[in-house]
Amino acid sequence: SGPIVVKDLAEQLGAKATDLIKRLIALGVMVGVNNELDKETAVIVATEMGAQVEERASVEEREEILLQGDEDREHELQERPPVVTVMGHVDHGKTSLLDKIRSTRVTASEAGGITQHIGASVIDWNGRSIVFLDTPGHEAFTAMRARGAQVTDVAVLVVAANDGVMPQTIEAINHAKAANVPIVVAINKIDLPDVNPERVRTELTEHGLVAEEWGGDTMMVPVSAHTGEGLDKLLESILLQADIMELKANPNRAASGTIIEAQLDRGRGPVATVLVSRGTLRVGDVFLSGSVYGRVRALINDRGERVKEVGPSMPVEVLGFNQLPEAGDDFVILEDERQAKSIADARASRSRQSSESGSRGVSLDEFYQRL
Ligand code: GDP
Ligand code: MG
Repeated sequence: SGPIVVKDLAEQLGAKATDLIKRLIALGVMVGVNNELDKETAVIVATEMGAQVEERASVEEREEILLQGDEDREHELQERPPVVTVMGHVDHGKTSLLDKIRSTRVTASEAGGITQHIGASVIDWNGRSIVFLDTPGHEAFTAMRARGAQVTDVAVLVVAANDGVMPQTIEAINHAKAANVPIVVAINKIDLPDVNPERVRTELTEHGLVAEEWGGDTMMVPVSAHTGEGLDKLLESILLQADIMELKANPNRAASGTIIEAQLDRGRGPVATVLVSRGTLRVGDVFLSGSVYGRVRALINDRGERVKEVGPSMPVEVLGFNQLPEAGDDFVILEDERQAKSIADARASRSRQSSESGSRGVSLDEFYQRL
């Protein structure tokens, strides 16, 4: 929400900037490619150019409906673990906090073993699981959202008690709010002398986050990534937040999810980490992701173990891609390999066409959501 630069709008509409500017001039709006448009103007001009946008979207929308499958019924839904992203200003301790939390769940059998980096970690705590996305920071978060993917249920906002609210703290708050993701605040570095967590609470109030202790609805937990103090309380708060949200999914259906990481591995070829959003993903399943399709050859969890299947909210490394998929893309299981192939081929040829004509289509709905 907010203003949009003309050239970005043109790109989103799959139109030439010069055509867009002509259209704007006809509406009495004199702008150059680098000028900003307010939302109302952007919507009006986008609607005017809409016919072209809609047409391009229709095939994709039909595909979408096919891939979505049936709605789950209430009784089919089961509780699923929360998926958490850690955000906050640089050097406030995001990485340290993740490392400390991760190290708490290492069991004797794993100690000293190599933990696989797959882009997310599953923490088992008090008999429940919490999934932490490994890439901290709002860049990853917004990159995923820009592709229409929303995998985060809860954002942990790390604010160093000695530093307080800083520019990226505010950005993180804004991104989480825009995505409708609730925030749990970790007031970090309380092991330092002369720090005052109250000051952080006060500063956050100015940005719309009011601590529960002060009658608001944001959980704020003083912690130290160094000593581990407060981490139990933090994990507890995340689970409490998850309970409030009643996170659920149907595990008894074909899986779908999102690619959260993809890379070309020297020995193994293209590998990607999928975060399963619903259903159960199994070895042997036929999948489609963007214009890539294939069959799941192996599944490897965040501990580096081969597994036969994974359920909702779980991250898993998938082997069996013949090409590299893209982070943020959907990942869907289909019954029929030929169907997967035909959709993948159609998508590939569409994206070739639109890159030739210099445009990529979006639906109007999608477009409005981005504004
Ligand atoms: P990031 O940029 O947010 O990922 O921050 P890092 O985790 O890299 O931490 C930045 C610096 O703060 C490092 O020097 C850490 O050792 C230090 N740090 C992180 N957490 C704590 C903490 O709880 N207490 C203290 N005293 N220092 C911390
Ligand atoms: Mg870091």
